[in-house]
Amino acid sequence: MERKYAGVIVDVRAEAVNRIFQYAIPEKYQRSLEIGHRVLVPFGSRRLEGYVVELSDQLEVEAERLRSIIKPLDAKPAILPSLVELARWMADTYAGLFSEALQYMLPPAHRYGRERVGVKTAQMVTLLQPEPQLRKNAWAQKRVVEALQARGQMLAAELLALTETTNSTLQALARQGVISLEAVRVERKVEVDQVPDPTHTLTPAQQVAVESILAELDGGRKPVLLHGVTGSGKTEVYLQVIAEVLRRGKQAIVLVPEIALTPQILNRFAARFQDRVTVLHSALSLGERFDQWCKIREGGADVVVGARSAVFAPLPRLGLIVLDEEHERTYKQEEGSIRYQTREVALKRCALVGGQVVLGSATPAVESYHRALQGEYGLVELPERVESRPLPEIDIVDMREEFSQGNRTMFSTRLREELSDLVGTDHQAIILLNRRGFASFVLCRECGEVVGCPHCQVSLTYHKSSNRLKCHYCLHQEVLPTKCPRCASRYLRQFGVGTEQLEEVLNKEFPGLNTLRLDADTTRRKGSHSAILRQFARGQAQVLIGTQMVAKGLDFPKVTLVGVLSADLSLHFPDIRSSERTFQLLTQVAGRSGRGELPGTVIVQTYEPNHFAIQAARTHDYHGFFRQEISFRRGLGYPPFRELTRILCSGPEQETEEACRAIAAYLLGKGVLPKDLMGPVPAPLGKIQGRYRWQVLVKSDGPLQGLSTLPVVADAVQVTVDLDPLHML
Ligand code: ADP
Ligand code: ZN
Ligand code: ZN
Repeated sequence: MERKYAGVIVDVRAEAVNRIFQYAIPEKYQRSLEIGHRVLVPFGSRRLEGYVVELSDQLEVEAERLRSIIKPLDAKPAILPSLVELARWMADTYAGLFSEALQYMLPPAHRYGRERVGVKTAQMVTLLQPEPQLRKNAWAQKRVVEALQARGQMLAAELLALTETTNSTLQALARQGVISLEAVRVERKVEVDQVPDPTHTLTPAQQVAVESILAELDGGRKPVLLHGVTGSGKTEVYLQVIAEVLRRGKQAIVLVPEIALTPQILNRFAARFQDRVTVLHSALSLGERFDQWCKIREGGADVVVGARSAVFAPLPRLGLIVLDEEHERTYKQEEGSIRYQTREVALKRCALVGGQVVLGSATPAVESYHRALQGEYGLVELPERVESRPLPEIDIVDMREEFSQGNRTMFSTRLREELSDLVGTDHQAIILLNRRGFASFVLCRECGEVVGCPHCQVSLTYHKSSNRLKCHYCLHQEVLPTKCPRCASRYLRQFGVGTEQLEEVLNKEFPGLNTLRLDADTTRRKGSHSAILRQFARGQAQVLIGTQMVAKGLDFPKVTLVGVLSADLSLHFPDIRSSERTFQLLTQVAGRSGRGELPGTVIVQTYEPNHFAIQAARTHDYHGFFRQEISFRRGLGYPPFRELTRILCSGPEQETEEACRAIAAYLLGKGVLPKDLMGPVPAPLGKIQGRYRWQVLVKSDGPLQGLSTLPVVADAVQVTVDLDPLHML
């Protein structure tokens, strides 16, 4: 095929230009221009950046309207062809703009606004005359030449520090022709601690896991779900599978929910694969990210460890993607017009390049386990911890009883005892209090009743400003009751104690225990996260208090006690997945206890001790939890049985409501049944930054049709489509 024409997506975020425009390729670029090249093109009266997504020898527009590409913007295509295809798929699947999907595939400097990050350069000094004649007392010059005689070439900064001289010495030498000075590109290095971690001899269960994954890799490449309890050695399985992938000349991506929360896993990868590993995440500076990206694109790294967006890392020989803790909600992109689920993107990317996906978790998402049981994924289970370490014992404490016995404090008698026992030992504890967001619910301290919505099976949320309870799914709202609707008790309480208050109380009651706190407030500064975890690892505090951040893959062998102050908090978050999230959270945080030689204890305080999610967590019974949850989902027609799509409109008050109503009417016209359409209603957060928000929720069998042709009522109204939404605020 002669490459005479290029299909180009122009870099404009607007529905009206969300299509491929054909351009002529000037003769001199016809041999070099490839799919994925960034190009400069004329567009109307402007010149814009665009991306080549197709090449053709067929003219598809009227010849007189055909315009020419001005020039390519890089020597080599920035985007891999497989990633161009992935972007096309994302735009289709998530009803977003192709141009926006392509932004994910470009170097980081693009995606984060229009800051231009260049390559970083430094001055390189090269010795040109091996034995130069220098003035007799030119001592500084002599030191420089000596240093260069040993090494031949050195970076100027390094050389000046070594020889304790200044730039004028170098200038003088350059003038005499003794040395040359030139700018060279240097990488902004990202240092990763390497924690010594010897390759383990696999347990029989790990052995089976590695072999099953490699069998898929050699065969049908069906994704594999690795369901292994906490501490069962999943990471060791990933490491050994990746070692094999590298031996075959392929490359791997390892995705983790949040790098800052799990520095330990990164350190283990760095220790095992050394400089073949690189890391991509948002805590790096833009320049650092840019350099890591370029290194990956140029084939300088074979293993990329990173958070969500590392799924787009431009590895040219990708053979494997691992999603660790695949159930985590941070894998969902919640911003922009393309709200992708990383798991689905990883599956698609691997399908495009013939790679293998491994999903790992102690508590797989209900959707994932369902797919595994349906045969869509291979399933491997690691039911035991390595070295037969027992799973920690979990005690459920009924806080209603504590209350009736006169305990009005945050701590149950049992937890208080365990904390006292800790004083004077070198054991450690983690205390979880998962209060996040603005939402709080109202609970009866005598009977445990949570005030819920009469229409929606979710708890009502207390809104301080209006002193009202509101449903975040429908329009229902009511004044704050003074008595419990079930038992008429007056002990109704809004739950909203935060971690900060908890720390204060703990310090007062247990002066012998030093505390550290890990939550959104203490981790705002860059690096503070890992600093807190390092302090805890060094034993500078005995108790780590925190939100769900403390539940993630931390591995501290001295932790023997985990306390959960209020398991109900996540149970009553307005969300169809609240039971699942509670089970996951309890299992994950319990898994932090007893990981070393010392056995662990877990104490879970709750007002609903008989809730199936809490009971299943107590007995480490994932399968029991799954069976109940999946039948609940089936009954209500929730995912994975049916798809849920949220369409959110935002803008001026009246236009927004009209737009949302028009969309609902349009969907009904497309055959959506009224019972499958929830809304249009104002979104739970009805107004943000002056923009009004309306939404419809739609249930459908298979992907919802017609999303690409939603009616546009007013330009001022922004429409966002969210497939499988994780929250509804
Ligand atoms: P997971 O990822 O399932 O939570 P890890 O891979 O972190 O589990 O393993 C838990 C601990 O056990 C780690 O300290 C790890 O070094 C160790 N470990 C893993 N596999 C083995 C093995 N086969 N033999 C001995 N120790 C192991
Ligand atoms: Zn009550
Ligand atoms: Zn409701």
